[in-house]
Amino acid sequence: MTTVRLMFALQELDIILDRVQDERAKAKDELNNGDLVKQLESELERDTELLQETELQQRATQLEAETQKERSESLNSQLYGGEITNPRDLENLEREAATVKQLAEQHENALLEISVQIEEAQNRKAELENKLTEARAAWKIRQAELQASIKELTAESAGFEGQRSKLTEGLDPTSLQHYESLRKSKGGLAVAKVERGLCQGCRMSLPTHQQQSVRSGRKTVLCSSCGRILFLS
Ligand SMILES: [Zn+2]
Repeated sequence: MTTVRLMFALQELDIILDRVQDERAKAKDELNNGDLVKQLESELERDTELLQETELQQRATQLEAETQKERSESLNSQLYGGEITNPRDLENLEREAATVKQLAEQHENALLEISVQIEEAQNRKAELENKLTEARAAWKIRQAELQASIKELTAESAGFEGQRSKLTEGLDPTSLQHYESLRKSKGGLAVAKVERGLCQGCRMSLPTHQQQSVRSGRKTVLCSSCGRILFLS
């Protein structure tokens, strides 16, 4: 095989190898970052904390409401007990009883609102728990799929690497280095085919004498427009 033919074969192998390794990297990335379970777990943790806080608030408001209610009852019994007769004292007492009654009502309303919040939070939590159960089961399957795929792609990649090193054995180090650096700088395409007088790397038409030297295959010819190694199959 001529050097150019070898380099072209190497390139075809490298393109496949890149694809296999890219697929493997994607699978690894999904395996490390594609886990919905973690996200749902932290959401659930946040909702649980919020629920606990609201329940604490409920208890405090309940206590406060009971205190106001007791105070209201005691004020009422003073008011209607007949012990206080002074009109001015009665008036003050009446005013205080009205205020306390209003406070007790406010607390009752707050309690109603809190219990609605708690119910909503409980529903949300239950929904998240269901989602989490589903996500855990789905992830287990996906994880196994990804692991199997990574294993397969690793083996495939190793096979291609083996073929590659056999091919590169036939190339002199300078040509190999030239090929490698061109592949890096030319978007993965170091060797370009010549078809109908055109370089398939840059689509520019090649001068006749250049086409002839490519055809003779005696030395490596570079495209005068894009610098890629020209190859005629
Ligand atoms: Zn070109």
